[in-house]
Amino acid sequence: MNILVCNVGSTSLKYQLFDMAHGEQVLAAGGAERVGGARSLFYHRNNRTGDSVQLEAVFPTHREAICAMLEHLLAGCIETLEEIACVGFKVVHAKGVTGVQFLTEDVLQAMADFNAVAPAHNPPYLAAIRQFQSLMPATPMIGAFETAFHAQIPPEAYLYPIPIELSEQYAIRRYGFHGASLEYLSTWTAKAMGREDLKLVCCHLGGSGSLCAVKNGVSIDTTMGMGLQCGVLQNNRIGDMDPYIIFYLVEECGMSLQEVKTMLQTKSGLYGLSGGVSNDLRDIDQAAQAGDVHCQNAVKAYAYGIKKYIGAYTAAMGCLDAVVFGGGIGRNSATVRGMALEGLECLGVQLDPEKNAHARGGMDLSRDGSPVRIYVVDTNEEIIVARKAKALLEKG
Ligand code: ADP
Repeated sequence: MNILVCNVGSTSLKYQLFDMAHGEQVLAAGGAERVGGARSLFYHRNNRTGDSVQLEAVFPTHREAICAMLEHLLAGCIETLEEIACVGFKVVHAKGVTGVQFLTEDVLQAMADFNAVAPAHNPPYLAAIRQFQSLMPATPMIGAFETAFHAQIPPEAYLYPIPIELSEQYAIRRYGFHGASLEYLSTWTAKAMGREDLKLVCCHLGGSGSLCAVKNGVSIDTTMGMGLQCGVLQNNRIGDMDPYIIFYLVEECGMSLQEVKTMLQTKSGLYGLSGGVSNDLRDIDQAAQAGDVHCQNAVKAYAYGIKKYIGAYTAAMGCLDAVVFGGGIGRNSATVRGMALEGLECLGVQLDPEKNAHARGGMDLSRDGSPVRIYVVDTNEEIIVARKAKALLEKG
């Protein structure tokens, strides 16, 4: 059974074709970047033949990128589209819907109902899913919702302190995201430690990031909320912030509501704190080392947010067995890991600086004898989606 898993960003498309019947083998992988830009980049690797291509193209929308993907899959990887049992998507948010679902009109409508809550994620996903449906009308489309991993968060952690009737009427609560990655990080760690009864703080730190308290394999709290605009700093989106700053900016500082919204969605987080230097931590780190004070503070604020939540979640779970890092920043930034864990010896977290500086995926970075393990994991969201899609297809 071949399953195509697609990850849709507002300007990108990444995909992997899995052969689920033969050891979850990746038959092909690739993607498109700068979709909608003047020149897009397309790359594809056929693992059956070992052939790779990388080319520049013009992809005004995701449709052209999907066509390029299908063309390359049909050129030596599969013979017909019928060999693809389904397309699986790591979909983000839907009103009243979670888990793994066939993407019916009702489910797509539920996603559209939460466009305002996940503005950077739901609209591009919906547009891309429509393109997939028109290009592959006979292939089932399945969505594994990022919220599903957090379905068991208790009321004290998911309720917002607003009138309860508003929460109930409008489905306002903490939902949590990055479920596929957090599930991968926590199950990987349980396997590595040979135990299920673990208290973990899993940190998915990418362009978009969140921390999660995982107790005995179950998410009991997470830093993301109703939407993806809270918790630790994001690349260019806001993290935790006093909501009254919005009223102050609109009522006293002459900004329109739309300007504030755009600012919170695209000019905040690391980008905003760095004074517009970049939304990429690599650039900010470099500028910080060269003495840029805004960039130094951006890195410090990012790491401080992580540290604070590790402490909070250790308190929520009663103890801590491991801190697990994944995502582009979690996996690659020794600076962020070092700063975030500094001073947490009181919780039993003892980072080995040498191991931290030379971290590779799958490594334990804790000092010998440290009561708490510190893992760096190459997360694999796609395989989680493929497994869930396969299970749904088999259930029918
Ligand atoms: P996304 O969340 O967009 O899927 P990733 O999980 O791949 O992306 O994370 C992307 C982010 O990872 C980039 O914005 C960059 O800030 C960060 N990153 C990648 N490599 C490094 C590195 N070596 N050092 C610091 N940050 C890095």
